[in-house]
Amino acid sequence: MMQDTKKTTIVIGAGIVGAATAFELQRRGRQVTLIDKGEPGQGTSFGNMASIALDFAAGSGPSTWRKMPGWLLDPEGPVWLRPAYAPKIIPWFLRFLAAGRPSRLRQIEDAGMSLSAPALGDFRSMLQAIGAPELMTEEGCLAIYETEAEFAGDRGHIEMMQRYGFEHSVLDNAGIRDLEPSLSPHIAKAVLLPNNKSIRNPYHLVLKLVDAAKAAGAGFVSGAVVTIERRAGGGVTVVLSDGRRIEADDAVVAAGVPTRAIAKSLGEPIPLETERGYHTQIMAPGIEMRYSVIWPARAFMVTPTAGGIRVGGNVELAGLDAPPDYRRPRVLVRHAQRALPGLKVEDAKDWMGHRPSLPDTIPIISASSRLPGVWYATGHGHLGLTYSATTARLIADMIGGITPSIDMAPFRINRY
Ligand SMILES: Cc1cc2nc3c(=O)[nH]c(=O)nc-3n(C[C@H](O)[C@H](O)[C@H](O)COP(=O)(O)OP(=O)(O)OC[C@H]3O[C@@H](n4cnc5c(N)ncnc54)[C@H](O)[C@@H]3O)c2cc1C
Repeated sequence: MMQDTKKTTIVIGAGIVGAATAFELQRRGRQVTLIDKGEPGQGTSFGNMASIALDFAAGSGPSTWRKMPGWLLDPEGPVWLRPAYAPKIIPWFLRFLAAGRPSRLRQIEDAGMSLSAPALGDFRSMLQAIGAPELMTEEGCLAIYETEAEFAGDRGHIEMMQRYGFEHSVLDNAGIRDLEPSLSPHIAKAVLLPNNKSIRNPYHLVLKLVDAAKAAGAGFVSGAVVTIERRAGGGVTVVLSDGRRIEADDAVVAAGVPTRAIAKSLGEPIPLETERGYHTQIMAPGIEMRYSVIWPARAFMVTPTAGGIRVGGNVELAGLDAPPDYRRPRVLVRHAQRALPGLKVEDAKDWMGHRPSLPDTIPIISASSRLPGVWYATGHGHLGLTYSATTARLIADMIGGITPSIDMAPFRINRY
């Protein structure tokens, strides 16, 4: 594809979203400069649970406001709120609850599923293009339920998968152990999601994308972006904290949660919050696993990835600056040992990252509403890995003047 041969684009942020976007734009013939304030792939994209999770689930629903107090009060529950952060999160949280009303919820599910539908195909094409198809496993994911009551409690999600024709099958105890013998015999039921593949190492994937973009001619600049200005005569100037100014025809902001500050400096504030999440990477787990496992009632996953087994998930609302509280992943590991009785925690390391989350769960993939030539690819929340290749394709289409294959209105920046 040779459109826009001489046009230049700056991509801000070398996480999975920025790296995929930089690669796609460079591949289509644009001259790309990727900018990151740190090393590529060391932000949130370093430590996610490696799952191509196609079964989009809205964060909020009609009964969320009733469940939330119980979650917040349970020290082992799926959501933790640091009391000092409570006043700051209230505006975001009210929007989150509003996104759960039935009329809005269906629109959000339609939008999420419009990204999920092409996500696996887009991901495969991206891996093929960087010469790394082996980075994706062929096995899917098992959603597990310890009791029939837990299974019944997840009925809404299972009905949603049926509504959208999402491939899945319900397994009983024997069926579960056939597929994944390391799972406890006490797990009553599971739903196999055969298309929710895993990535063998999400960090290596970012590095491969950056290397592939560079090999195709992209440049990399180390530096922290503070704002973007309109350039006289067209195009944009990206301004770095040390005063450097870099010009281009377009700029894509894919900086994770700090995108909030850049957007604010352009006069278009977005309600982007960090939903902090933890993992424990266990290099000597004492068991082998082929499938990733999600336990919906306890809101965490276990994935064989990065050369070991990774246990992680959950949500902590505490802002960007509070230090990690590594008691959190301990709770997840204890839950994991209940599901996988042979799991040992040897040669293990904890990690914390910031999901860039919008209150309605779906990302911003959009032109700026204020500055022509500025684009946003952010707010992917729990699904940034899953939607990275699709986001890259959609942004590259819009920048290149190609009408995207899906309705982009739900993902516009000025929807709030
Ligand atoms: C515990 C956990 C489990 C998860 N599991 C999954 C999963 O299984 N599947 C899935 O799809 N998603 C999952 N996610 C979500 C996923 O990891 C994120 O949505 C995704 O990594 C976001 O990618 P990003 O590129 O937007 O942000 P990041 O990876 O954070 O990258 C942003 C980059 O921008 C750079 N940057 C920031 N500010 C500036 C600036 N001012 N100037 C220059 N550079 C800047 C940063 O240094 C960073 O490199 C999980 C997240 C967590 C925390």
